[in-house]
Amino acid sequence: MIGENNYIKENLNTVYGNIAKAAAESGRKAEEITLITVTKTFGIDKILAAYGFGERNYGENRVQELTEKYDLLQNQHADIKWHLIGHLQTNKVKYIIGKTKLIHSVESLSLAEEINKRAAKAEIVQDVLVELNVSGEESKFGIPPQNAMSFVEKMLEYKNIAVKGLMTVAPFVEDGEENREIFSKMRKLYIDINRNYKDNIHMEYLSMGMTGDYEAAIKEGANMVRVGTGIFGKRY
Ligand SMILES: *Cc1c(COP(=O)(O)O)cnc(C)c1O
Repeated sequence: MIGENNYIKENLNTVYGNIAKAAAESGRKAEEITLITVTKTFGIDKILAAYGFGERNYGENRVQELTEKYDLLQNQHADIKWHLIGHLQTNKVKYIIGKTKLIHSVESLSLAEEINKRAAKAEIVQDVLVELNVSGEESKFGIPPQNAMSFVEKMLEYKNIAVKGLMTVAPFVEDGEENREIFSKMRKLYIDINRNYKDNIHMEYLSMGMTGDYEAAIKEGANMVRVGTGIFGKRY
C-alpha cells in the first residue's frame, strides 16, 4: 500500500534535504550522515513502507518491541540493521545480543559487563556507543561528561565489546539551535577520546539529534541522527 504511506516518502525527502543542508554547513556530504529511522510505537507496515523507500537502519527504544519486530522481519529483510537507542536494563541484555547492530545506550559498568558476558557467550563482538548526559538533566540517562574518558578506558577491558562512539539525548527545546552548545561539547569529547585511545578504539559514530534538533546536531558534527516523528508523524 505505497500510496497510503506517501507521507513517509515525502517526510524522508524533507529530512534528507535538511541533512544535506546541515552537512554542507559543516563541510561534509549528506552520505557521511547515517539516518536512523525511529519506529517505536509504529507497526510493521510503516517499517516496510520505509524499507521500500530504501531505509535500512531502524531504532527502537524498548527491548521487547525491538525483538518482536526483529523476529517478524528477520527472515525476509535480513539487511535491516537494528539499533537499541533507549535505556537498557541489565536483565534484558540477553534478549538482544545477536539481534542488534548497535547499542546506543551503554551508561554503566554493570551493563557493559553483562553485554560483554552475553556477547562472549554468543561469540560475537557487540558494537556499542557510550551514552553521555551532557545537559545534566536528572531525568536523563548517561555518564557525566567529566567521567567519559575514564569510563571509556574501563571499557577497554571488555574484549567482546567494541566502543564505536558516543551518544546523547539533548533536552527538548522549541528551537533545536538552543542545543548547539551541548552538541559542540559532545564533539569535543568525541575528538579527545579518539585522540587519547587511537591505538585501542576506533570511534566512528557521534549519535545525536532527533526530530527537533538533528540539523543543529549535524552542524556540530553528528554523523548519526535518530528521527521518528519527523518521518512517521506523531506517536500516540
Ligand atoms: C524516540 C527517540 C528518538 C526519536 O525522537 P523523535 O523526536 O520522534 O524524532 C531519538 N532518540 C531516542 C533515544 C528516542 O527514544
